[in-house]
Amino acid sequence: EGVSFQHTDKYNGKLLGGLLADGFDEAACASRYSSFLYRKISLHKPSSYLISRLRSYEDLHKRCGPNTQSYNKALEQLKSGNKITGLTDCNYIVWISFSGLGNRILSLASTFLYALLTNRVLLVDQGKDMADLFCEPFPDKSWLLPRDFPLIDQFDSLNQNSPSCHGNMLKNNVINSSAMSKPSYLYLHLVHDYGDHDKLFFCDGDQSFLQNVPWLIMKTDNYYVPSLFLIPSFETELSNLFPEKVTVFHHLGRYLFHPSNHVWGLITRYYRTYLAKADERIGIQIRIFDSRRGPFKHVMDQILSCTLKEKLLPEVDMQDSVVNPSENAKLKAVLVTSLLSGYSEDLRNMYWEHPTMTGEVVGVYQPSHEEFQQTEKQMHNRKAWAEMYLLSLTDVLVTSAWSTFGYVAQGLGGLRPWILYKTENDTVPNPPCHRAMSMEPCFHAPPFYDCKAKKGIDTGILVPHVRHCEDISWGLKVV
Ligand code: GDP
Repeated sequence: EGVSFQHTDKYNGKLLGGLLADGFDEAACASRYSSFLYRKISLHKPSSYLISRLRSYEDLHKRCGPNTQSYNKALEQLKSGNKITGLTDCNYIVWISFSGLGNRILSLASTFLYALLTNRVLLVDQGKDMADLFCEPFPDKSWLLPRDFPLIDQFDSLNQNSPSCHGNMLKNNVINSSAMSKPSYLYLHLVHDYGDHDKLFFCDGDQSFLQNVPWLIMKTDNYYVPSLFLIPSFETELSNLFPEKVTVFHHLGRYLFHPSNHVWGLITRYYRTYLAKADERIGIQIRIFDSRRGPFKHVMDQILSCTLKEKLLPEVDMQDSVVNPSENAKLKAVLVTSLLSGYSEDLRNMYWEHPTMTGEVVGVYQPSHEEFQQTEKQMHNRKAWAEMYLLSLTDVLVTSAWSTFGYVAQGLGGLRPWILYKTENDTVPNPPCHRAMSMEPCFHAPPFYDCKAKKGIDTGILVPHVRHCEDISWGLKVV
């Protein structure tokens, strides 16, 4: 009970408005067809064009995926190292598992969009735990890169100076964009530390060069979608796929990322125990980038200042003059996520020690406090994923500046969060928080380059739908 079962229409409910294909084995991935029971119906419908492109991608994946005839042929080609002159049957983009989980989810969604735009097959390096965290998103054929893939041992060491790195080859004039013959594979370095030559990836000329390279291998920790919107040759396709531009991650995230059964257990048990019965759910994601150990008083002050000022949480009556809350007082559940337990403890005590001015009662819950990032541990990442997902099930969301963890929650939830600004000199910023322009994630390391004029340019002022982010002044986001 408490969980809403009102979405009876299968297409709009269980299949998320046609985003999901029908016919998957339900037991293998319980979250795929039951996530809708935990959410309000999205206000954003996927376009019929997006739906048809997803179905045709699924066909492509089935035809070219791991261990198909086409895959084996492309693999032979790769092993031979011969240059490519003609067209190839199937082309691939391999996504390397890299960085924290929030970063991985965002970079993988970006890479899937890139695969859609360029008719490539997406294959996912399993790293330590991709298979443990996520269900298979495509029918019939796995999205996981087989473990015997020839270059797999090099993934960790690939960087911007690698001989196969696209940017590095451009820098050393080993390739030029107009050459007729193409290498059988290229490494694309789109990590935040990338250089000017790597950034040419975002130019039309380089995209047309990359077109017939059968294997692209990409390492990135960024949500690079905003800059794809600035590549002229992708413009029409992007506006057909996403007539409502701010829904890119919202739709692709819900399409791709289904929690595996054990993560779904973490999510549903927690939701039913602590959140389902509330009249309203408020998520507060606290992620402080500070080398000192918290909790910090100025951060607690900032959280209170933001949530009270914006009326997301009720004020408490310090005089304790409200004696008996009414029988039908509203119940608000606050879900706090943080590596530390201090902030939620203070908040919980505040609402226990004093009544609220509104008569509402407020429960404060925090699933875990892992103390520090431990990306190499399985249970740690399961909890991180469960918490991002739980945040996405709230009605009102407060996030921390700079954090991809929060971006994932807001995008999946279709929520425009209040962003807690990054603090400086241990003081509460004024204003303490700001409502996001859109639910889209921010691209933290975009290029500032005009490919045509071949000079630097502010890419945040070129078109109305790609702007600088609220939380990172040099970042770009779709609005
Ligand atoms: P970002 O660093 O905030 O952009 O997000 P990432 O997800 O890429 O990396 C942060 C990592 O730290 C997460 O993946 C978790 O491993 C851990 N972490 C940070 N905040 C939390 C939290 O509130 N809960 C849990 N369980 N883990 C967290």
